[in-house]
Amino acid sequence: MKKAVEEVTDYYTKKILENTRYSGKNKKNQKIISCSQIGSEPQQVLLAYKYGVIEQNDIGQNTIGTLVHKGLEHSFIKEANIHTEYSMEMLLKNGWILSGTADRIDLNNDVIVDTKVTKTYTIDMIKKEPMHQYRLQLNGLRILAEYWYKKPFKMLLEIFNKQGGYDVRSGETIPDLTYIEVEKIDDDIVLSNINDLIQFIENGVEQKCSDVWLRKVKGDIIPLRCLKYCSYNKVCKFYNPQPKTIIKGW
Ligand code: SF4
Repeated sequence: MKKAVEEVTDYYTKKILENTRYSGKNKKNQKIISCSQIGSEPQQVLLAYKYGVIEQNDIGQNTIGTLVHKGLEHSFIKEANIHTEYSMEMLLKNGWILSGTADRIDLNNDVIVDTKVTKTYTIDMIKKEPMHQYRLQLNGLRILAEYWYKKPFKMLLEIFNKQGGYDVRSGETIPDLTYIEVEKIDDDIVLSNINDLIQFIENGVEQKCSDVWLRKVKGDIIPLRCLKYCSYNKVCKFYNPQPKTIIKGW
């Protein structure tokens, strides 16, 4: 090899990061709420509003999700009646804009498809909970699509399971790909979820997320979400990177 392996892999990593970076609206203080924020912790939505989208500098779960989405976009790109990565907007009564990007809008079958890359536990939760965050988000996209195309749409969650495959312990094969048909949630319920988030942002009073995923890791109880799954932890006043002190404070 002409170059040192480290130099080559650094180059690959940089290219992957460049091509999977968030490309939506990312400026701060814009009165835009996205369907993907429905069901999120209000504190995270408020920080996204105050600071804009914080760029990711390491390969993470989002990178893998984006790579899957890019592959799917490529798979359907030649189909005239299937729109991929289709961005839509709608002005709400309070002057905010509801935005959303549908992974796939299939005009042959009038279906909106939202793709997720997740784990078995989340798939079970989606199946169990009629108001699961992913169901609400997809209904937000449905409201936008119906406004945009002036016709009703059915909804499908297309879920890739990172834990799919043959499970040696149970002897079962866990599907790598699952489809869940999502029922319509009343527009008023979806819009009231969105309005609650907007009101929280407009009040501007920060408050610790209600579920920071307290988990025991190597004997310490840590708020896993704050430490590992929150791109706003550097700007959030509730972030405390010292697991041992967190036990007392949290
Ligand atoms: S650092 Fe923790 S409390 Fe603050 S926004 Fe992130 S997850 Fe919520």
